[in-house]
Amino acid sequence: MRAAASAVAIAMSCLVLCQAPVQAQNKEATKPIVLKGATLIDGLGGKPIPASVLVILDGRITAVGSAKSVKTPPGAQVVDLKGKTIMPGMISNHSHIGIVRGLKAGPDNYNRDYILSQLRQWEAYGVTTVTSLGLNAPEFYDLRAELHSGKAPGADVFGADRGIGVAMGAPPAAIVPVGPSQIYRPDTPEAARAAVAEMAARKTDLIKIWLDDFGKMLPVKVKPEVYAAAVDEAHKNKLRVAFHINDLEDAREALKAGADIIAHGIRDKEVDASTIDLMKKRSTWYVATLALDDSNFIFADRPKVTADPFVNRALDPTVKTQLEDPAWQQKVHDAPGSERARKALAMNQKNLMTLYKAGINIGFGSDSGVGLRFPGVAEHRELDLMVEAGLTPLQALTIATSGAAKLLKLDDRGVLKAGRLADLVVLDADPSTDISNAHKIAAVWHRGRPVAASIGTFAQR
Ligand SMILES: [Zn+2]
Repeated sequence: MRAAASAVAIAMSCLVLCQAPVQAQNKEATKPIVLKGATLIDGLGGKPIPASVLVILDGRITAVGSAKSVKTPPGAQVVDLKGKTIMPGMISNHSHIGIVRGLKAGPDNYNRDYILSQLRQWEAYGVTTVTSLGLNAPEFYDLRAELHSGKAPGADVFGADRGIGVAMGAPPAAIVPVGPSQIYRPDTPEAARAAVAEMAARKTDLIKIWLDDFGKMLPVKVKPEVYAAAVDEAHKNKLRVAFHINDLEDAREALKAGADIIAHGIRDKEVDASTIDLMKKRSTWYVATLALDDSNFIFADRPKVTADPFVNRALDPTVKTQLEDPAWQQKVHDAPGSERARKALAMNQKNLMTLYKAGINIGFGSDSGVGLRFPGVAEHRELDLMVEAGLTPLQALTIATSGAAKLLKLDDRGVLKAGRLADLVVLDADPSTDISNAHKIAAVWHRGRPVAASIGTFAQR
């Protein structure tokens, strides 16, 4: 019921707010907009500010604070947000674009129109920046330029070009059957260096390496001399390296080779003191992707999840049919892989808390865009699972906003502060008191413009 109400709220607030962009795009582009009266979560973890004032000019925040400290500029368009809460747009450090459409993965999905529809979906769910962490085809670079400049609607996008895996191994062709222009599988250190040099020449944001045999499902892993050469070449090109790992041992090897980002949680064993030391020494970032294992059983264990309009409206019809099929639910519920996934999630949550308490840099990502991790929905699930692990809602939100921006070295977003992009989510209730309130999206603003209309766009897909 709650989620149904919030869907209505999105539609209603759009009636009010969606007129603003027309003005903003026309002659009155320099007219300031003031968001007034909302409880404000700044993204840095500070105590929410009641009855706040936030001033936007030309897509950026020019002032933010209490009604006492910030004056409404003359001639401003004032939007009354009394009773609402605003927080920065979320930033994903681990997603994929153009991989899965409905239930099918394939190279044809990597096309402009489909990717833009995914980016609009992320944005409508309050994720205003996304990192496509590998498996990107050449089209990525034109898309990135369009999204960076704001010429195309949707979440802004950063990425890790193709990334480096291994022939016969990860990333598994059975799960992600990508085209040859979406992955490198070098067999020698020289070939790995050449691959990194090509990605650097295209000006990738990050380098991705897969170091995993998927529970011994795959016969090989990337050889140590190959990934060591890739890391070295990346660092020579001033690029940071994100490692896909599952096991503690692989995480340790990646760290010793110079990993800058551990792009999945450690899920086989408890993280130990010496691994924490390795991470501290290199100021490594850690992205748990709790939603990954969760997505392998949650729709079977809790079939009602699919009925929630917040989830339901993101689902492709073929996905909906599968998730609502009792036979499919039973089969997945009983599958040995689901039991492994439940245990992996529990270990992942435990390790996340250990690393958080040890002061390790924590990023935000759910590995959305692959499997049953639907853009936007998966990020909200990640927030829920972070809180279930033991973080406070405010800690989880801080990771998903300013923390994730810091991982990407972006100092223009992730925080509601003067000078930053006006990327923000308007909510009907305060998520710092209950994380499920983050589902109550009334509007999403991207670069100073309300984009809540995109909810309707993707719902009609
Ligand atoms: Zn991934």
